Amino acid sequence: MRTWIKDPMAIFAEGAERGLVVEGTRIVARVRRGETPERIDATFDASRHVVLPGLINTHHHFYQTLTRAHPSAINKPLFGWLVALYPIWARLRPNDLRLAARLALTELMLSGCTTAADHHYLYPAGLENAVDIEVEEARALGMRLTVSRGSMNLSEKDGGLPPDSVVQDAETILADSERVLKQFHDPKPGAQIRVALAPCSPFTISKDLMIESARLAERYDCQLHTHLCETEDEERFCLKMYGLRPVDLLEETGWMSSRVWLAHGIHFNADEIARLGKANVGVCHCAASNMVLASGICPTCELEAAGSPLGLGVDGSASNDSSNMMEALRHALMIGRLRYGADKVTHRDVLRWATQGSARCLGRPDIGKIAEAHEADLALFKLAEPRFSGAHDPLAALILCGAHRADRVMIAGKWRVVGGAPVGVDLAALIAEHRRAAKNFA
Ligand SMILES: [Zn+2]
Repeated sequence: MRTWIKDPMAIFAEGAERGLVVEGTRIVARVRRGETPERIDATFDASRHVVLPGLINTHHHFYQTLTRAHPSAINKPLFGWLVALYPIWARLRPNDLRLAARLALTELMLSGCTTAADHHYLYPAGLENAVDIEVEEARALGMRLTVSRGSMNLSEKDGGLPPDSVVQDAETILADSERVLKQFHDPKPGAQIRVALAPCSPFTISKDLMIESARLAERYDCQLHTHLCETEDEERFCLKMYGLRPVDLLEETGWMSSRVWLAHGIHFNADEIARLGKANVGVCHCAASNMVLASGICPTCELEAAGSPLGLGVDGSASNDSSNMMEALRHALMIGRLRYGADKVTHRDVLRWATQGSARCLGRPDIGKIAEAHEADLALFKLAEPRFSGAHDPLAALILCGAHRADRVMIAGKWRVVGGAPVGVDLAALIAEHRRAAKNFA
C-alpha cells in the first residue's frame, strides 16, 4: 500500500514541495515540485495541512501529571520543589502510573509528538514494574517510547536529597535494569520501544551507580540519560560531595559519550561546552521547566555549535505544567531570542531541535526527518483556529501563533490522531479517571 500525502500547504522538509509517499511503516519517496509519484494506491489531500516530521520529546516524568500546579510546590525553586513533592510522590501505585502514562502520552500525541522519552526514577514499594506499565501503555497507543529506567540510591541518610521511601539499593536497580533491557529494548531501526538507563541526578545517586550503569549500557547497546547542570544548587552539591563540578563527575564515571543525553544542561562553562560537544553528548533543552523553576537558560546555540545534539523536552508535568510539545518549541524560540537576539533563533531552528536534534539525542537516525528510509512519523496541523487567521508564512505561524493541537498524527504509517482526536481513546473518560486518581496526591 503506497499512500501519497499530497500537496501540503507547507512542509518542514527539503525537496518535498508536492509531499511524500508512505509505504508500510516508512517514507519511501519525497515528491518534488512538478513531479508525480508512480504506483500510488491511495492519496491523502494535505492541501489544508502544514506537515512536520513527528515531534520527539526527549525528557518527561509521566507520573508528575498527577501533581500539576500542586499547592505544596508552586512558587519554589528546584530543591524546595523536590523536597515538597517527594513524600507526595511516594504514594504512587501501579494504577496511578498507568493512568498518568496514558494521559501524558495522549496529551503529547495530540500536540504532534510521535516519540517520547520518559525518565521514571521513582520506585516506592509496590511499583517495581513501572517500566512494564509504561511499555504497555505506549504499545496500546501506538507511540514510540524510550523508557528511561531511572534510579535513586542516595537518600537523606547518605547525604542525598530524597527520603528513604523512594530509593532502591544499587544491586536491585542494576538487576532490574538488566531485566528490562532484556525484555523490552529493541536496538533495531524502526523500533517502537527502547530502554535507556537513567540514574536520576548527581544529588540522588552514588558515583558507583553511574559507573555501573555506563558499563551496562555498553553491554546492551542502549542510551544513558540523567539530569545535569540544572541549577547552581546542584553544582554546589557536587563540589561539596565529590569535590568535582558536574561535568567532571560525568567524565570520571565514563559518561562522556554519544550514548549520553542530558536533561537541562544550563550551568556549563565554555571549556565544559567544548568537551561535551567533542564527545557528542546530547542535551535536552526544557525551556518551560527552566523558566517555571527559574533555573536558568540552556546555552543551546553554543552547545549545538560545539557539536552536541540539541533536543527539546517538556520535562515533568509538575514543573511545566503541561505536556505540549508545540508549546515547548514556542518557549524554546522565545527564551532563545531573549538570550541570543531576534535573528539568532528562528522557527526553523526550534523545528530542527524538536525533530532531528531530539532524534540524535535518543540515538535514532531512523526518525525525526521527512526523507527516504525514515519512519513514517508525521504531525499535520490545520491553520483554522482564530489564532492563525491572517498568518502569512504557514511554518512560522505554527510557532509564532502558538499551535497547540495537531489535526492528524501518523506513527509508523498509521493514523493515530484524526480530526484532533486520539484514535481508540475515550478522552473524556480518561480525563475523569486520571482526575480521580490525582485526588490521592492532594
Ligand atoms: Zn526532569
